[in-house]
Amino acid sequence: MNMETTNQHKLTREIISLSKAFTWDEAKLEWDLDAIYHQDEPDTCLCGHFPILEICVLRNRQNGNQAVVGNVCVKKFMGLPSDLVFQAVRRISKDVSRALNAEAIVHAHKSGWINGWERDFCFDTMRKRELSYKQAVKRQQINEQVIARVNRNRDKANM
Ligand SMILES: [Zn+2]
Repeated sequence: MNMETTNQHKLTREIISLSKAFTWDEAKLEWDLDAIYHQDEPDTCLCGHFPILEICVLRNRQNGNQAVVGNVCVKKFMGLPSDLVFQAVRRISKDVSRALNAEAIVHAHKSGWINGWERDFCFDTMRKRELSYKQAVKRQQINEQVIARVNRNRDKANM
C-alpha cells in the first residue's frame, strides 16, 4: 500500500467514526465546510498528512462534530468546494483588482466576512471587465477584507 492509499484509509476511517452513518458514501454527505483559512504555521490533516497550510474545518450536520482536513483531501475525497474558494483567494492575493468566484462569495457571506449588500455587489460585478472607479475601489476593499480573514497566524487562531 502506498502512502497516499494509507492516508486515504485513515481519512475515511476517521470521518466515519465522527459521523452518524457507518459507510463512507453516506458519512461524507453529513459534512459541510465550516471554516477555511490559510495558516502560516502548518497543521496536520485528519489523514495524518503533515504539513497542511490550506486548512478546512468541516462540521457534521447530524452531530456537530468537527474535523480539520487539508484542502487537498477535501477536494479529492469530500467533494466540497474549498479548493474553489482557495483558488479565488490566491487570485485576488496576487492581483487585488480581480473578482472573487461564486463559491468564494457565498463562503465569505456565510462566514460573516462580507455583508448582504457586498455579496450582491460581488455577484453583480464579477463578470464585468470595466468597473467604475467607485466599483473598483469597493471590490478592492472587499478583497482585502477576504484576504485578511483567510490568512491566520497561530496566535490569532487560538484567541
Ligand atoms: Zn489529508
